[in-house]
Amino acid sequence: MQTLTLNDGNTIPLLGLGTYAATGDDGRATVKMALEKGYRLIDTAAYYQNEEAVGQAINASGVPRSEIFVTTKLWRDQLSYGQAKEAFEASRQRLGLDYIDLYLIHWPANAKNYNDWQAANAETWRAFEKLQSEGKVRSIGVSNFWPEHLEALAQTAKVTPAVNQIEFHPGYWQPDLTAYCKQKGIVVESWSPLAQGRILDNPDLQKIADRHQKSIAQICLRWVTQHEVVVIPKSSNPERLDLNKDIFGFTLSEVEMDAINSLPQIGFSGELPNEWPD
Ligand code: NDP
Repeated sequence: MQTLTLNDGNTIPLLGLGTYAATGDDGRATVKMALEKGYRLIDTAAYYQNEEAVGQAINASGVPRSEIFVTTKLWRDQLSYGQAKEAFEASRQRLGLDYIDLYLIHWPANAKNYNDWQAANAETWRAFEKLQSEGKVRSIGVSNFWPEHLEALAQTAKVTPAVNQIEFHPGYWQPDLTAYCKQKGIVVESWSPLAQGRILDNPDLQKIADRHQKSIAQICLRWVTQHEVVVIPKSSNPERLDLNKDIFGFTLSEVEMDAINSLPQIGFSGELPNEWPD
């Protein structure tokens, strides 16, 4: 599996498994299958209510812990120093793991849900830095942060986020934010790389898929990784788990990359860091 090197020296697989909506037995079975098929990055979150299932599958897999990159996330209603530390420990225990590879602030505090959003993010980040210095988490990062949130964080941060996980798929890929992160040495990770299926009937993507004899989903995932962006499609289906991994045997041309880059907005989730939830 190809990897990218993070700004803290750790490496992250370029492709992994998303687990949103895979809970209970479904979550366990999905993670088990993915590990058997060679997936080595598993993305979960406290919000997904599946950390226990994900951890059980990891611990029962027989794959050495050191070969699996586990990400979890702190939910947006717990953005303070004390709550972050407590929530991390609860996640770690639910996962049943000694350490987490990557811990993310799931959404930034914003002016709608925190009186002083800058302080809430800064204090949370201070807890993340502490967890990292204690060895409980290898890499620390953020999710759904725009440049304004990253700039504010940089005022007090000792550690630059290693990753920013953002909505990134054909039809909504936040190119300016992506360029900003790359320029700051922050690896971008794509969530909803298939827009949860909302873009899988697009005729322009179909033409490119036909040319390569691949599915639209595979074109989306290849396009993300050719941007040197980490991709974590979710599937609980064995065939689709195989297909989603089979994306490195072909290359999209520059013309095809540009065509996908320039698609009009399609498949957008509607979730914005400063406006969601209303
Ligand atoms: P995806 O874009 O990965 O799409 C998942 C959906 O597409 C599922 O319904 C899946 O169904 C289907 N699917 C998967 N592969 C294929 C395929 N090859 N062909 C057709 N359909 C397919 O959406 P997610 O929102 O799940 O995003 C991926 C991950 O990103 C999440 O699971 C989560 O870990 C993370 N995430 C993070 C967010 C954040 O705020 N940080 C927000 C949203 C997601 P089936 O299982 O039946 O195959």
